[in-house]
Amino acid sequence: MSTLGRYLDRLYCRYDKSFLTSDPVQFPHAYVDTQDREIVAFLAALFAFGNVTSILNTVRRILTPMGPHPATSLNGLTSGSAKAYRGFVHRWVSATDLYALIRGMHRVLNEWGSLKCCFLAEHDPKSDDLSLAMGRFIARLRAAIGEKSLGLRFLLNDPATGAACKRFNMFLRWMARPADGIDLGLWPEISPRQLTIPVDTHIARISQFLGLTQRRTTNWAMAREITDALRSFAPDDPCKYDFALTRIGIVEGCRGYRHPKICPACPLDHVCRAPLRVSIHNDITPPFPLLI
Ligand code: SF4
Repeated sequence: MSTLGRYLDRLYCRYDKSFLTSDPVQFPHAYVDTQDREIVAFLAALFAFGNVTSILNTVRRILTPMGPHPATSLNGLTSGSAKAYRGFVHRWVSATDLYALIRGMHRVLNEWGSLKCCFLAEHDPKSDDLSLAMGRFIARLRAAIGEKSLGLRFLLNDPATGAACKRFNMFLRWMARPADGIDLGLWPEISPRQLTIPVDTHIARISQFLGLTQRRTTNWAMAREITDALRSFAPDDPCKYDFALTRIGIVEGCRGYRHPKICPACPLDHVCRAPLRVSIHNDITPPFPLLI
């Protein structure tokens, strides 16, 4: 195995379940029932944008009215259920958007029994990736919602637009990768080979530093290029490194450039080709880890 492959494997072993609380994947782990985990994972992944603290607060705010069994709560949705979300806002997603999403999920569950059944209806095990199944699942959920707004369009973006679809890819990683203390292994019908790495600006930047992508724009093509590069280290499970790579920003405090205090302690120090400086304001730039 190459030097980078050895570093990535060490990274994968290092960031185990003891780091769960730094990530929204902690939420589905708090439930026992499979249906509850699936629903909680979907909501937690869709709202995983913004800074970590606000993401965790938002997901708690969404889940609290659902009680200990969100699947049962979603099944028993009534017109009065919307009251629980009055005043909710997460960035540009309003309480109206959130309740429309929840109502759409309720309809999908009524029709299909689970999110998994709805997704698998369009899943082609021979396909290289899951983009088509994702697009069709999103179309079904949008139809069940029956409303369009900026917030809903953002929450449910489609890879056919060329977007990286970080949050949906993250949800699929949680579902399809085997249970390893981080991911949940709830959808074994999907091969981890078909997953695409969830890419945001931070994973994009670290991937550039490691030579996993030459692209500058964060989009679906970049996500596939990074996934294919990781495939040379883990052919059957290229996205196994995603959680560990994101800890470099969230836990280690990577600034996106060589930092004399942070980089020497970083587990990727010897293989990272980050630039020395990006701004004369380096010392006051908010640290990377705040954003995921
Ligand atoms: S060595 Fe420094 S710049 Fe490179 S990934 Fe680690 S913290 Fe970020």
